[in-house]
Amino acid sequence: MRNIDFTKLTKHNIRVLQPYQAKEIPCKAKLDANESPYSIERPQDILSAKALKTLNRYPDPEAKELKSTIAKNFKVGSANILLGNGSDELIYYLTITFGGPVLYPVPTFSMYGIISQALDEMHVGIPLDRDFDLNVKEMLAAVKKYAPKLIFLSSPNNPSGNCFSFEKIQRLIEASKGIVVVDEAYQPFSKKGTFLPMLKDYENLAVLKTLSKIGYASLRVGFLLADERLISEVNKVRLPYNLNALSQAIALGAFKNKQLLRQKISAVISERERLLAEISAVEGVKPYPSDANFILFRVDDADRVFLGLERSGVLVRNMNSVIKNSLRVTIGTPEENALFIGALRKTMDKAPKVKTAKRRQL
Ligand code: PMP
Repeated sequence: MRNIDFTKLTKHNIRVLQPYQAKEIPCKAKLDANESPYSIERPQDILSAKALKTLNRYPDPEAKELKSTIAKNFKVGSANILLGNGSDELIYYLTITFGGPVLYPVPTFSMYGIISQALDEMHVGIPLDRDFDLNVKEMLAAVKKYAPKLIFLSSPNNPSGNCFSFEKIQRLIEASKGIVVVDEAYQPFSKKGTFLPMLKDYENLAVLKTLSKIGYASLRVGFLLADERLISEVNKVRLPYNLNALSQAIALGAFKNKQLLRQKISAVISERERLLAEISAVEGVKPYPSDANFILFRVDDADRVFLGLERSGVLVRNMNSVIKNSLRVTIGTPEENALFIGALRKTMDKAPKVKTAKRRQL
């Protein structure tokens, strides 16, 4: 056997790349990946899926039925929609199609940067302001300096949980000659409106959505809504049959079941507000308000608290490397949230007594 060093064969930009961290750690409450705690697929949708009868054939390459259902739901045409194997895939396709420079605020969803790096495209991250809102002056300066082909704005933002101010996003869309992608993965949990109605005013606006956060993460269904000329450019790089037949069929069921979807979203929102109050009451913990299905919170020592929670069977996301001493907890069922808050209290009780109140916040 030759002892090949594959890293030497790897392209230079991939060699230094860190893969997306999605760990499978056994736990009692899995609150680390912003999934819905409720599984709401209907068995009849699975059983009636044509795919089960005809597994030898490829799925509908255009997912026509699903596209027209999404079109009706969001009041756009089918030609304004591109479906992806999760919205991650659509971020990939957008970056392959238009290339860099790619601009985004930081901290934000890590895949914008990882994909730009994987494709060796120039990427620029502009720090958010102290309220985690867009630093619009610096973003506008970056638009002028780099003329980005793509700007990714996750609103509500992951991991901070807040929506960016509507006017700031609008200013960026107006100032940019490139495409502004408003990633609305968490918008269903927000009282602030969607950018969809703005599609008719701005041809360089694209809105990204996903079923992953509202009960269907395992399907991997995301969709991009935009001007049909933009969609047809991105469609050129789409892999054939990127959405499998089962996902197409079950996603159709999700749209038939909208009342149940809305109920589960409301349940998550009311648990979020309850949990926010409970976290605030724990000494030494500072949570941030959230428009999403998760809460970011600061502690004295994120690594210690992460391990303490893990020992109690609660898995959250340690954001320490992104925002110092912060963790992100996904809203779970009332039982999971009770487990989390109990574990947090227990862990914080064991905290070495230091004055956390006067610590400087970001
Ligand atoms: N956008 C944002 C802001 C996200 O946080 C995530 C998932 N963490 C995604 C997109 C990707 O979602 P999916 O690929 O599951 O549709």
